[in-house]
Amino acid sequence: MGRLSNKVAVITGGANGIGLATATRFATEGAKVVITDVNDTNRETALKKIGNGAIFIQQDVSKEADWAMVFEKVIDVFGKVDILFNNAGIAAMGDAEHFTAEQWHQIMAVDLDGVAFGIKHAIQNMKTNGGSIINMSSIEGLIGYPNLFAFTAAKGGVRLMTKSAALYCAQQKYNIRVNSVHPGPIHKPEKDNDPKEQKLVSEHLPMLPLGRFGETVEVANLILYLASDESSYSTGSEFLVDGGYTAQ
Ligand code: NAD
Repeated sequence: MGRLSNKVAVITGGANGIGLATATRFATEGAKVVITDVNDTNRETALKKIGNGAIFIQQDVSKEADWAMVFEKVIDVFGKVDILFNNAGIAAMGDAEHFTAEQWHQIMAVDLDGVAFGIKHAIQNMKTNGGSIINMSSIEGLIGYPNLFAFTAAKGGVRLMTKSAALYCAQQKYNIRVNSVHPGPIHKPEKDNDPKEQKLVSEHLPMLPLGRFGETVEVANLILYLASDESSYSTGSEFLVDGGYTAQ
């Protein structure tokens, strides 16, 4: 308890999945949490689950103007931002031979532009007091997957833009750390009865040394470490939580 006392955290795509699990974990450790999401249908359920006075701001991470609005509101309500978890992301199957321009630009807009704008606005707002920026990549930001062409391109970009931003902040002596996280396949309880998800699970299980998908809280625990001062000597680094997938 209290690992994030007196910290203010912004989590994008925080109404569901890993973002919501992380927001909940942060709040139990004392953080004031702001979740943003393009979709507000799960807003009330999410805020109830997180507790500790969390607030919701509707935001499309791919629009830079939305980022300026988010930081303005958060500073208005809480006075500062200490942590940004750039989590929002979308995935769509598509291979290198058949992807469409529309699919490509949609994934780049959310998974790459969204993280880039987040980093830029976080640096501008954190440079006086310092902070921690955590960017969501994937194991697909480190290794290839034949049917996730655009997704791997975007997540690989997140991995390297993290390093560039981390070096820039260190050079400027901003006391802002920037790291990326790379989960393997994560269990989605809401999709347990979805035949598409079951197919994905049966394809991936043989490749997972730990023999199971990860749980969202297992990703959240890693992000908590990166958000807290416990990770004060880590910047520009990539952190895996993949059940051993990439160790093979
Ligand atoms: P999810 O779909 O459960 O949650 C993502 C959230 O992002 C949703 O609430 C969605 O509404 C929101 N979102 C989508 N587009 C947005 C936009 N333009 N602006 C703001 N919010 C937007 O997904 P998840 O599985 O929790 O994944 C979260 C992140 O983790 C993603 O970046 C994903 O690529 C990454 N990831 C997931 C897995 C996995 O197995 N689930 C593995 C590796 C990486």
